[in-house]
Amino acid sequence: MVLNYLAPSTVTERFLRYVAIDTQSDPSSPSCPSTEKQKNLGHMLVNELLALGVTDAHLDEYGYVYATIPANTAKPDVPVICFCSHMDTSPDCSGKDVKPLIHYNYAGNNIVLPDDTTQVLRMQDHPDLKNQLGNDIITASGNTLLGADNKAGLAEIMDACYQLINHPEIKHGTIKILFTPDEEIGRGVDKVDIEKIGAFACYTIDGESAGNMENETFSADGARLTINGISAHPGFAKDKMESAIKIAGQIIAALPHDLSPEGTEGMKGFVHPVDFAGHVETATIDFIIRDFVEENLVKHAEVIKQVAESVLKNYPNATYTLDVKEQYRNMKNVLAQHPQIVEYGMEAINRTGLKAKLCSIRGGTDGSRLSFMGLPTPNIFAGEHAFHGKQEWVSVQDMQKAVETILHLCMIWEERA
Ligand SMILES: [Zn+2]
Repeated sequence: MVLNYLAPSTVTERFLRYVAIDTQSDPSSPSCPSTEKQKNLGHMLVNELLALGVTDAHLDEYGYVYATIPANTAKPDVPVICFCSHMDTSPDCSGKDVKPLIHYNYAGNNIVLPDDTTQVLRMQDHPDLKNQLGNDIITASGNTLLGADNKAGLAEIMDACYQLINHPEIKHGTIKILFTPDEEIGRGVDKVDIEKIGAFACYTIDGESAGNMENETFSADGARLTINGISAHPGFAKDKMESAIKIAGQIIAALPHDLSPEGTEGMKGFVHPVDFAGHVETATIDFIIRDFVEENLVKHAEVIKQVAESVLKNYPNATYTLDVKEQYRNMKNVLAQHPQIVEYGMEAINRTGLKAKLCSIRGGTDGSRLSFMGLPTPNIFAGEHAFHGKQEWVSVQDMQKAVETILHLCMIWEERA
């Protein structure tokens, strides 16, 4: 089926509406959602879903939106599929009073953002702009992020809902919708109700370039290195004091560059000190440890130990402990048990005329945690670029392709059942 009725699509109007609402999350807040204002967007989405006739749409106390589009096929065994995006924007950059601008028919020129003219989108800094000639680029105005991460995904899923409901010729099984708060602070699925979703598979619509699908994330551990030094009165410390602060400093300085975030790319993992606290007597260094291969996490922790031991050779009375805790695991291991989930995703992208490309993420997604909670969840492009900053952009045409991809996915699951 050719989905040419999508033009002109309303995905852009939806997107412009959602980015106007400030939904910045806050890592220092213990509540869920971390900021109450995220519910403002949740209410808007629920009201729009209800207006479309999605009668069970609701926002729960934790700021999650759930909704169901009932099956319209006679086939009884079509697996239930869920689509997911997050409503919050990054704490790294203001999301207040976002003024989205559409730059029609992009011709490769620099895009100067009017409210801060030092913010210029140049093709050499944003290589993906090369694929956007003739397209309509949406940016913020210079003072804020845009919020395409992940309001592009929200708009795409919402527009797909609209299309599904208004085009009964698109046959599909039961479709579940999930919009989450607090993804940007790593808490996006803390309060998710997997039972209520009741889906066989889920797709987050939160990826970057059009055509991309991601089936692989890092596996991640956190580690705390505690150094127990020897304190003494500084006036009488000769040959006695072994300062935990100085030991920690030497350990941090001795970490190998080729196992650091700034020294690695592609499929290589790293260890990375993210926090330090210390006195003369004790000091702690918190690390994150990342690799695509789970077994390598142990090897990387071993490197931290080796560095600590070699530094401590010069401090005969000081000691250390290393405490490693699991954070999340590469979702590829779960997705490999149900290869059709990624396969259908790739086919859906190809059916839109794009060339599907399978990628890995040097990080985690809500999908990596959902996958291990029993809901296998790869990530599909939303078209968002340069996220978490003032030069964030998305194109109208990429958003339309994402809507088409969602619709094709619904059809493919029905066809194959
Ligand atoms: Zn995101």
